[in-house]
Amino acid sequence: MVDIRIPFNKPAIMGNEMANIQQAVTNGHISGDGPFSKQVHKQLQETFGVERVLLTTSCTHALEMSALLLDIRPGDEVIVPSYTFVSTINAFALRGAKPVFVDVRWDTKNLDETHLEQHITHRTKAIVPVHYAGVGCEMDTIMSIARKHGISVVEDNAQGLYGKYKGQWLGTFGEMSTVSFHETKNIQCGEGGALFINDKRLVERAEIIREKGTNRSRYFRGQVDKYTWVDIGSSYLPSDMLAAYLQAQLEVQTEIYAARERVWNTYDTELAAWAEEHGVERPYVPNHVDQTYHMYYLVLPSLEVRTRLQEHLRKQGIVAVFHYQPLHLSEMGKQYGGQAGDAPVTEKLGDQLLRLPFYNTLTESEQSSVIQALLTFEEW
Ligand SMILES: *Cc1c(COP(=O)(O)O)cnc(C)c1O
Repeated sequence: MVDIRIPFNKPAIMGNEMANIQQAVTNGHISGDGPFSKQVHKQLQETFGVERVLLTTSCTHALEMSALLLDIRPGDEVIVPSYTFVSTINAFALRGAKPVFVDVRWDTKNLDETHLEQHITHRTKAIVPVHYAGVGCEMDTIMSIARKHGISVVEDNAQGLYGKYKGQWLGTFGEMSTVSFHETKNIQCGEGGALFINDKRLVERAEIIREKGTNRSRYFRGQVDKYTWVDIGSSYLPSDMLAAYLQAQLEVQTEIYAARERVWNTYDTELAAWAEEHGVERPYVPNHVDQTYHMYYLVLPSLEVRTRLQEHLRKQGIVAVFHYQPLHLSEMGKQYGGQAGDAPVTEKLGDQLLRLPFYNTLTESEQSSVIQALLTFEEW
């Protein structure tokens, strides 16, 4: 076993996280929706101009809330990219929906909007585009197809917070969008997420669903004199200690993004000639998109090369990891009828994409070790 010198991900204290957590404890409000949660809600609502932001215990749970809000029922179909994290579809399958997988574009790895319309039926209830690596999907086309057919859009924006498509914030196109603050994401609190609600008709019910199906929020606002069970729901509020951690990260958001941008640009510049020479593809970011510098990946010529390269890095204590395996070919995906060949781009990316170590505190010397290791790889 070789010791890990450079991990794939490393969460880091970036500002006042520790002091904030201490403050949350001192405040005596460590359950959900305390002072820090309120501050984060307000800040995110103001920055992104959405009707309502609600912190959740994860992006997965924010997706589950969106499925409840859309009244997804057995027999409904929900369209997702086949190249994504399991939660994107599982949240809807949990309500009985049938997943409909659409292949992704080779260039951006995002849902291929040119394949979208052929997958729509009278049962289609929602489209859930994923802004892969924080690079926006073709939202103009996706939204116009959705409007034409009267279908809801929920953006899985786990990787795209502070990204833009044609100057508009990602997460503000669909009726709802979901964010992740998992320790692998740009802004973190360990485990956490948020639901962004752009349609104000959904706000009140979202509060109820998030509070175990009760009208507790109305009670706290003095709008009803006791609170009671009014709908189905669950417990989706994170502790205010996590919101405190998150608030500190949001405070230094520009520094975090600047650090990530430097890492991303260094990889992209230093590896350009090498990639060209060996038929390795680098990320593509369209001009009309502002990306979030969430990850840096390479697409290798084959699974065999990727495996050898990963091993070559591992021997030097560097952890590089592949990403999504095609969902339509997973055990569950096959039960819904998924077959090899359904989504050829996704199937290739499952074999050929490799993510390089990427975190806020990756030092110049660590990064140059990674780059040197790549440049000296010879087993093509
Ligand atoms: C990370 C991620 C999720 C899940 O986020 P959690 O907060 O861990 O539930 C969902 N979708 C995408 C695209 C992700 O990258």
